[in-house]
Amino acid sequence: MTRHDKSQEIMRRSREIFPGGVNSPVRAFGGVGGTPVVAARGEGCRLIDADGNAYLDFVLSWGPLVLGHAPPAVLDALHEAMTAGTSFGMPTEWELRLGALIRERLPHMERLRFVSSGTEATMSAVRVARAQTRRDGILKFDGCYHGHADSFLVKAGSGVATLGLPNSPGVPAALAELTLVTPYNDIAAAERLMAEQGGRVAAIIVEPVVGNAGFIPPDPAFLPALRRLADAHGALLIFDEVMTGFRIAPAGAPERFGVNPDLTTLGKVIGGGLPVAAYGGRADLMDAVAPAGPVYQAGTLSGNPLAMAAGHATLRMLTRELHAKIEARTARLVQGLREIAARRGVPFSADHAGSMWGFFFRAEPVRNFADARTSDTELFKRFFHEALARGVYLAPSPFEAAFMSAAHGDDDVAEALNRMDDALGAARG
Ligand code: PLP
Repeated sequence: MTRHDKSQEIMRRSREIFPGGVNSPVRAFGGVGGTPVVAARGEGCRLIDADGNAYLDFVLSWGPLVLGHAPPAVLDALHEAMTAGTSFGMPTEWELRLGALIRERLPHMERLRFVSSGTEATMSAVRVARAQTRRDGILKFDGCYHGHADSFLVKAGSGVATLGLPNSPGVPAALAELTLVTPYNDIAAAERLMAEQGGRVAAIIVEPVVGNAGFIPPDPAFLPALRRLADAHGALLIFDEVMTGFRIAPAGAPERFGVNPDLTTLGKVIGGGLPVAAYGGRADLMDAVAPAGPVYQAGTLSGNPLAMAAGHATLRMLTRELHAKIEARTARLVQGLREIAARRGVPFSADHAGSMWGFFFRAEPVRNFADARTSDTELFKRFFHEALARGVYLAPSPFEAAFMSAAHGDDDVAEALNRMDDALGAARG
């Protein structure tokens, strides 16, 4: 039996200092019950908690750690950057290096701006879209999460759904009204909405593969339809690739799905575990951003040299070859889970795109958030805890994607499958 005395003690004290004991809600285990395990350190694909228990980690800090924990290349880059100083509030060559590397890999991001969180990136991209179209509305999809800016806390999936907060108090109704919502993968609903209200929509924003309502891939026709609809109604198309960027394909959603957005947001992987995000896209749109243009957006720590160095080292390591290797291991894990569930007679569906994956306890594939909510979330909770007890760390919510890293070797995948097989047996009772 694993013990969690120290985690429990740290959480008890943390609850006196932080709301709910945490600095981001979904960490609190609200979706699965129990007390969170407290992280002490990471080694490759393993996470070690405050009591010294080790876990095969499939959360990876919610996506950023595509090379695993504490990769030497990132630590070396951090050390080099750190010894020169931690922040300047001036342009540095670190920014140029990471910016140029991103543009080389994602040429549709003709101009980009670094910020420090995905929330800032999506909020700023929408500001650009509103300024450029002189419209105020946005269309988003039920279950997609685009950070916690006021405009997006409407049917926002994952953390919000897990905690049972469909909308957030504190978001002005007048602003929420500008956010139109239709179901993911429902082309007819998006067409209807755009036919009625397209004239007030500045942007259609979408997770090209949903990770925040569990893992939900787009139907083949969905993203092309959104491109068509945006064009037909004079709106911009924003791909929120904060989670999918450098996960679903080396060159992102445009490579995987053959659809180009006008604007893209990135986060997570591009910071290699430090706080970095970005928004960017067509130069004629991005040149509206201050000081090139009038759309204001700024940040004291934007382009921070340590964060830039960590991101640059991460992306340099993440070659096409490495991406393909991680994707193959992800496919093996997902296939293994399907086989385990089938052998045990458990209704189950699982899928992956690149190194992003997920599963639901439901026989039919999930196409939208309403489907996701019909999965067996009680079985998920039991499975989560049984997996945790066997040293497998999954996201503490049935509505979150999982990830894989370069540090997960073939043996680790096999070990994870064995442990999850046992965990599923125990969870079924
Ligand atoms: N957009 C997507 C698709 C995300 O998954 C997230 C976070 O999980 C965000 C935006 C917000 O990013 P951050 O948590 O860095 O503010």
